[in-house]
Amino acid sequence: AISVKGVCKDFDGFEVLRDIDLDIAPGTTTCILGPSGSGKSTLLRCLNWLEEPSKGSVFIHGKPIGRIGTAATARPMARRELATARTSIAMVFQHFALWPHLTVLGNVVEAPVHVLRRPRREAEAEGRAILSRVGLAEKADAYPHTLSGGQKQRVAISRALAMRPKVILFDEPTSALDPEMVGEVLSVIHELAKEGLTMVIVTHEMRFARDVADTIVFMEGGCIREVAPPQAFFTDPQSERAKRFLTRH
Ligand code: ATP
Ligand code: MG
Repeated sequence: AISVKGVCKDFDGFEVLRDIDLDIAPGTTTCILGPSGSGKSTLLRCLNWLEEPSKGSVFIHGKPIGRIGTAATARPMARRELATARTSIAMVFQHFALWPHLTVLGNVVEAPVHVLRRPRREAEAEGRAILSRVGLAEKADAYPHTLSGGQKQRVAISRALAMRPKVILFDEPTSALDPEMVGEVLSVIHELAKEGLTMVIVTHEMRFARDVADTIVFMEGGCIREVAPPQAFFTDPQSERAKRFLTRH
């Protein structure tokens, strides 16, 4: 579960997130929708403290991340503590962010071996199993530059899974892909959703959001304007802003 309480973020006085409250139940998939600049990526990055909120707190399965305590007594987490807290939250980026000098399997086992200190052999066996789940068993020894965009993104998802995270965050996982590769990545994410991982996905793929999400969060102007099941959101959006957004997408 993820719990966001009163999160605000400003960049040099410009408010990008305004008093965000959000609760995400374990085992659910949440899709964050909204126009460009509405704060979707910033909110996602606040969930794992890649971005530090100017106010408010975030809890992952009841444990605070980034800052400990409230208001007057709050103190920032030490780097070590933050790194440990982050091991339960994986992130998949639009541009994959693979290590070019490592093979596919090397990319997948890097963090389990160096961060979680798992024996390399064991991590590799699990890594190969994950790669075959996403249809990349035969690419284990290839280097990232030899892969298609869709394959690279499936490696990035495998790398996230290898950390056995409680939560996976995706920021527009298909928007850097050629159209014919979008489907293969979305279907992998769809499978993960069925397995009950907790996922938060920023996406512009409306059909996908409708199919995969348990909950739609609609953002606009740094605020959450609607939280609803997809059926309700897509057929009967409550706000004018969401209606306008949907007619354009
Ligand atoms: P998109 O759909 O285009 O990705 P978004 O909803 O993800 O948009 P954000 O990237 O969260 O939007 O940005 C929200 C606002 O915050 C924008 O006005 C953006 O210009 C601003 N912003 C984001 N990051 C920074 C930064 N590091 N410094 C200053 N302003 C920023
Ligand atoms: Mg964004």
